[in-house]
Amino acid sequence: MNRISRRGLCLVLAAPSGAGKSSVSRALLEREPELKLSVSATTRAPRPGEQEGVHYFFRTVEQFEAMEADGAMLESANVFGRRYGTPRAPVVEALATGRDVLFDIDWQGHRLLRAALPEDVVGVFLLPPSLVELERRLHGRGQDSAEEIARRMKAARDEISHWADFDHVLVNHDFHETVAQVRAILQAARTTRARQPWLPDFIDGLLRP
Ligand code: 5GP
Repeated sequence: MNRISRRGLCLVLAAPSGAGKSSVSRALLEREPELKLSVSATTRAPRPGEQEGVHYFFRTVEQFEAMEADGAMLESANVFGRRYGTPRAPVVEALATGRDVLFDIDWQGHRLLRAALPEDVVGVFLLPPSLVELERRLHGRGQDSAEEIARRMKAARDEISHWADFDHVLVNHDFHETVAQVRAILQAARTTRARQPWLPDFIDGLLRP
C-alpha cells in the first residue's frame, strides 16, 4: 500500500481582517508539515516587514493583468480597491503530489476557488467573538490609519455576511482551541474517500481470498 498517494486538498481559511486569521494560519503551517501556504499576488504596497514571495508577490497592475491573461491565476478578485489573486502552478503541483495548500483569501476567492477546483476545497470561516473585539484587534495591530480601520470594519461586516458559503464556521474565542479545531477539520478532510483514489484497489486486495 502506497501511503502517500492521496490527493492534496485546499484549506481555505477566510475571516474578516482582525479575527485572528494570520496567527491561526502561522500556527497551522508550523504544526502541519504537509501544509504549504499559497502565496498570493497583489497590487497593494507591502506593509512594514512584508517580504516579496513570502507574504505576497507584489506586482504592478500591468503585471497582474498579464498573469490573468496568461491563465496563470487560479482566481482573482478586487479587495479594498486592490487586485489579489492565486497563482495557479504551485497549487496544481501541490495537489498532484499529495500536499495540502492553505489559502488566506477572502469570500470571493473561496467561491472562485471552489468553482475552479470543486472536489478539492475545504472552506473554514473564522468569526471574531464580537465586533468590539474585532475593532480592538485592528487598533492593536498598529499598522493601519484610522480611515483604513473604519474601511476594514465595514469590510468585516460584508465579509461576515458570506459565512454560509463555508463548510465549517468557528468563533475564535481562544487561539489554541481554534488552531486545534482547524487541525481536526484538516485531518478529517484528508481521509474522505475522494482524497484516496487508491482505495478501491486496496480494498480489492484486502478482500481477495
Ligand atoms: P491584506 O491586504 O490585509 O493582506 O488582505 C486583504 C484581503 O485580501 C484579505 O481578506 C485576504 O484574505 C484577501 N486576499 C489575499 N490574497 C488573496 C487572493 O489571492 N485572492 C483573493 N480573492 N483574496 C485574497
